[in-house]
Amino acid sequence: MEFTCKSATDRTYRVHFEWGILNQLKSILDQENIPGPFYVISDRNVFRHQGRRLEEALRGAPFHHFLAPPGETSKDLKYWKRIQDFLLKKGADRRSAVIAFGGGVIGDLAGFAASTYMRGLDLIQIPTTLLSQSDSSIGAKVAVNHPKAKNLIGSFYQPRIVITDPALLESLPPREFSAGLGEAIKYGVISDPELFELLHANVEKILSYDREMLGSLIARCIAIKIQVVEEDERESGLRKILNFGHTIGHALEQATRYKVLRHGEAVAWGMLAAGWIAIRRNMWDSGEFEKLKSILVRSKSMVPFGDLKRTDILNALKHDKKKAGKKLSFVLPERTGKVTIVKDISQEEIETGLDYILRFRN
Ligand code: NAD
Repeated sequence: MEFTCKSATDRTYRVHFEWGILNQLKSILDQENIPGPFYVISDRNVFRHQGRRLEEALRGAPFHHFLAPPGETSKDLKYWKRIQDFLLKKGADRRSAVIAFGGGVIGDLAGFAASTYMRGLDLIQIPTTLLSQSDSSIGAKVAVNHPKAKNLIGSFYQPRIVITDPALLESLPPREFSAGLGEAIKYGVISDPELFELLHANVEKILSYDREMLGSLIARCIAIKIQVVEEDERESGLRKILNFGHTIGHALEQATRYKVLRHGEAVAWGMLAAGWIAIRRNMWDSGEFEKLKSILVRSKSMVPFGDLKRTDILNALKHDKKKAGKKLSFVLPERTGKVTIVKDISQEEIETGLDYILRFRN
């Protein structure tokens, strides 16, 4: 299956999606006229499990590789600088291509490094987590974190191609798989009632790596993400709906210093809180909210977040508010498949949402 993601600039790209598609990497690179040399950026886990597969897929094409430590702490200017040094030392020039081979952390880090080295090298995204296959490898946002704010230093930089092979998920640890599912559930609520139903009926099948269900989930998420980012590439309007669950999700990540929750887990809690705020506003159907809760619980993405108190999360939210320089906005469901951006959420409503997840945590 092939998707095309159109860009307002001349940087339209294709997403090649299929079980085992990685084996065709070399011929796709040839067809797309990307001869290399190749500079693979990955992390140690990914490369240990899947590096051999990538090497075979490159069919002897020479490549250099740089491995970052796994985890969010690598999405940092320190590693961005090390990648620039690595590219320079290994002789990368404007004809070179960077291959981002990993999850969302590597996609964002390597993407940002590729966007800045010599004002931009070709970027090939090969996502290896459920989160990156269904979400982060598409849409051209690349970034590293600042100690005070996530994704603060970054740019919009379209890849030349995305190669999405669900076979790479075979080695993904169950917790990472569930975290990715947390983020993917978002697509059902914001845009696709059928996907929401499919998830409600089949979460367990997806967790057990049922090919048909998993393939259908990833394909639907890719299609929705493309549709949204094509309409609003630089997040001036519609693209904000992708932030469903992210206002409180980011606050939870920040309040736990990125050490307790995976991104998709924080988003799962954030969606539950936002869903509850929508219920209290009489915006959404309570039966649908219960379904969301059931999907989230069964997806195993609602990992406990320790003994955080309401004030800890509120303080993190205040920080977010300062960053935005205005009132916090929340993405809330009006009906399943349709969300709206709400800017007049009161402190009391936020507290109600937080109390709901704090009660639920116990
Ligand atoms: P991740 O990249 O940290 O990967 C999770 C873990 O799984 C890591 O330990 C990694 O080593 C391991 N791993 C990855 N693939 C594996 C495989 N195939 N086999 C074995 N182990 C494997 O995390 P993630 O959840 O993929 O991404 C989270 C990041 O994505 C966050 O930084 C978030 O901000 C970002 N994100 C970006 C966008 C965007 O549009 N750019 C969208 C959503 C999220």
